[in-house]
Amino acid sequence: MSFDSLGLAPALLRALSEAGYEKPTPIQAAAIPEVLAGHDLMAAAQTGTGKTAAFSLPLLHRLAGEVRGEGRRPIRALILTPTRELAAQVQDNLRDYGKYVRLSSTVIFGGVGMGNQLQALRRGVDIVVATPGRLIDHMQQRSVDLSKVDVLVLDEADRMLDMGFLPALKRILAAVPRQRQTLLFSATFAPEIKALAQQFMREPREVST
Ligand code: AMP
Repeated sequence: MSFDSLGLAPALLRALSEAGYEKPTPIQAAAIPEVLAGHDLMAAAQTGTGKTAAFSLPLLHRLAGEVRGEGRRPIRALILTPTRELAAQVQDNLRDYGKYVRLSSTVIFGGVGMGNQLQALRRGVDIVVATPGRLIDHMQQRSVDLSKVDVLVLDEADRMLDMGFLPALKRILAAVPRQRQTLLFSATFAPEIKALAQQFMREPREVST
């Protein structure tokens, strides 16, 4: 199994080869084809398995293939993470894998001023990586428009629920289009996770490592 055989865009393959990735990890091999095929996906994966690339690569592939005109771009992908450290790390990876595709991303988390985040949102970005609490702040200020989101990723969904983000997640899920692709990554599929998936996902494929 190679990244090439998964059907990813040459610009992504080049970045992966420069990053020294030789072949997909098991979660990547299982998840990437499902995401490229447009399915919703529930993936059971711990940190360290390569889960970030498992959702980032097909997401970048999809977005890069749907070229939009110049000018202000709508947010087409939203990635939610439980902590700011994870949000920052996911964005680092997106930048790395996406260095040869023309997509922009920004990261939104609490504990820092709103100014830079507002500026980035005003300029327009393709991908937002956010923690739920600060994203809700932006929604309340109407500084973020989620009405064009095509792909929603819930990363470490179990930790987000453990941290009490369920009400925030529900508000965010109500603000993105119903017609979208939803990817949920979680260390376990506890009953609360299954319930969330049942409510907000459409016939998800399940993969685990
Ligand atoms: P994650 O589980 O997403 O936190 O990734 C764990 C680590 O594995 C990160 O440092 C990645 O850069 C690295 N990684 C992910 N996928 C691959 C791969 N296919 N080959 C080599 N390293 C990888």
